Amino acid sequence: MTHKSLPPRGRDADDVLADLKAFAESDPDYRSGRTWSLVYHLDDAHDDFAAAAWRQYSSANGLNPAAFQSLKRMESEIVSIIAGLLHGPEETCGVLTAGGTESCLLAVKTYRDLARKTRRVRRPNMVIPATAHVAWFKAAEYFDVTPRLLPMTRDYATDISRLRRKIDRNTVMVLGSAPEYPHGTIDPIAEMGAIAVEKGIPMHVDACVGGFILPFMEMNGETLPEWDFRVPGVTSISADLHKYGYAAKGASAILYRNLDLLKHQMFVYQDWPGGVFASPALLGTRPGGAYAAAWAVLQKIGVEGYRDLAARTVRAVQALKRGIEQIEGLRILGHPQGPLLSYGSSDPGLNIYAVADQLEARGWAVNRVQNPDGIHAMVTARHEGVTDQYLRDLAEAVEIVRANPDLARKGHAAAYGLMAHVPLRGMVRERVLDTFAQLYRAGGGELTLDEPGEKVPMLERWMARYVAWKARRG
Ligand SMILES: *Cc1c(COP(=O)(O)O)cnc(C)c1O
Repeated sequence: MTHKSLPPRGRDADDVLADLKAFAESDPDYRSGRTWSLVYHLDDAHDDFAAAAWRQYSSANGLNPAAFQSLKRMESEIVSIIAGLLHGPEETCGVLTAGGTESCLLAVKTYRDLARKTRRVRRPNMVIPATAHVAWFKAAEYFDVTPRLLPMTRDYATDISRLRRKIDRNTVMVLGSAPEYPHGTIDPIAEMGAIAVEKGIPMHVDACVGGFILPFMEMNGETLPEWDFRVPGVTSISADLHKYGYAAKGASAILYRNLDLLKHQMFVYQDWPGGVFASPALLGTRPGGAYAAAWAVLQKIGVEGYRDLAARTVRAVQALKRGIEQIEGLRILGHPQGPLLSYGSSDPGLNIYAVADQLEARGWAVNRVQNPDGIHAMVTARHEGVTDQYLRDLAEAVEIVRANPDLARKGHAAAYGLMAHVPLRGMVRERVLDTFAQLYRAGGGELTLDEPGEKVPMLERWMARYVAWKARRG
């Protein structure tokens, strides 16, 4: 028997906690601002505070909102605070979820069911930007709603010139992002909302990333296009507490313009032998700790605190934009207006994925985007103090890649290049699925992005040859 076994007798608590501490040693170094995604970290004192709030409610369960009235109170207050920030009308209501993905999934389920019930739609579709967060593609697959994509313009904004034509009687919703994840661009929400009203279709704004920073940027005097409930066509908005709300992980919210919409999100089964059952969201048991931590963090930071965090973030973003534009061969992708950005290469001889490898070799954890290829940065207040170092390292990385163009065919750059550019997307999908699934084989595996070499299977060799051929042709 090779499975891990439980310790036969319970272990000493300090010993177990020491193990946890040791496990984290190989994790991304987010405390010093070296991680440009996944983590929104202020400082250890803030984490301790959120953890203290979490601890008080770690066993509490939001499954039945009538049972833990403390949790229902926190949920209502958080939703109400967000409704105010997003200029929602008096009737604005909503639900706390475990994360942005749950919020996005719920919007699709809600509008599919609304269309089924009120318009007898049987083969639902939704019109979403090509830059919509991947959670929307997941929702499309889970709930069997066909995505109809709005393409990007030449400068990577959402092209809405064909939005009207893409809406038909089976369209259940329209989506805009504020901002979108790949480049940080805010979609033309006002124009999209006007078309949604004209067509009588609900419109969701995905402000998972923007919901807790754009309102404070506006309070600080920045001019942004209207993107929230001020736009009449917007019927719902998602906003993540665990991103720029700086709450502990496991907290997001979805808000609707009125209860008639939210009702379609709810699930009721009256004949279950376990009892009559009603649930407002996707999860069954809902973690009380996450709600308590989110509520506590909102109270502790307050308007002034969030304005200050937004100002620091904007300063970091601006420093990055200026610095990146000064490095020859790099260009910002599109017109990011929020707290994140992506940049790519403007020089065919400069491979941006090889630049990413060089940044990683210097201790920065970065994400890669594709179509076009680029390096992503989700910027937080914590990054204000590290932008100078980052830009110095970036300039050096660009120099090195320029001097060694071969780096494009080595390391991770080769693997990411393959995944982004091989035209047989189905094959890429299968390959990624196989590799990814290995992480979950019995006992757990490791994810490796191998260099294309001798022992790799046919497909990879073929893909490597294809990419080399493309590279030679420029
Ligand atoms: C992060 C994000 C999501 C998904 O949120 P998770 O909390 O990661 O599930 C959805 N939409 C946008 C625009 C995001 O940035």
